[in-house]
Amino acid sequence: MEALENRMIQFTSQKFGGMLTLNAIPGHFVTSHSHVNFFIDLTMLKASVDDCEKCAHMMARQYHSLEAVDTVVCLDGTGIIGTFLGRELQRINASEDRKPVYVICPECAANGEMFFRDNVESIVRGKNIVLLMATISTGTSITRGMECIQYYGGNLLNVFTVFSAIEQKDGVPISTIFTKDDIPGYASYIREQCPYCKNNTPIDALVSSYGYSRFTNQ
Ligand SMILES: [Zn+2]
Repeated sequence: MEALENRMIQFTSQKFGGMLTLNAIPGHFVTSHSHVNFFIDLTMLKASVDDCEKCAHMMARQYHSLEAVDTVVCLDGTGIIGTFLGRELQRINASEDRKPVYVICPECAANGEMFFRDNVESIVRGKNIVLLMATISTGTSITRGMECIQYYGGNLLNVFTVFSAIEQKDGVPISTIFTKDDIPGYASYIREQCPYCKNNTPIDALVSSYGYSRFTNQ
């Protein structure tokens, strides 16, 4: 079985030039709610301390109300980027009486629902929140985070992400480092309209923001 990494292509951000490269593998991939023709591999961008710091810096540069943010809610294994984003937020308001900035990673129940324990609620309820995610293709995945923050009484200001194919979701702006235009030909489809399925192109792997899993029968 050919390693998918052999097909890896590197892309740069039109907004930020060569400061950071994005790895993506072309193919036929299935997410929890769509079919996509690139798997965006954020392994290094979420694990390398240097890359995480750069990501946070580029995200912060795109958002002009940083001083309002109380809490960064990290999804999809973005906790390290979130820590650096928290630092960026604190740097904006460096006075001695600055308010604390919190970075949290919600738990997920077995059914995928996000939730906060009682002891964490106080840093969500009534707070100005930004949501940090890895990649956004259709925006369906944002809804989960939005609903959770709303349920716990947080005020969602903005979404930060490494890659997004959309610019906003239900009126909440998305600040992204890489856009769809940075990956020429990038497309996502609902399953019924996927041209690769219509051509009987085999599915390469199941993907999520944590990585990919190949089918064992390939
Ligand atoms: Zn398909």
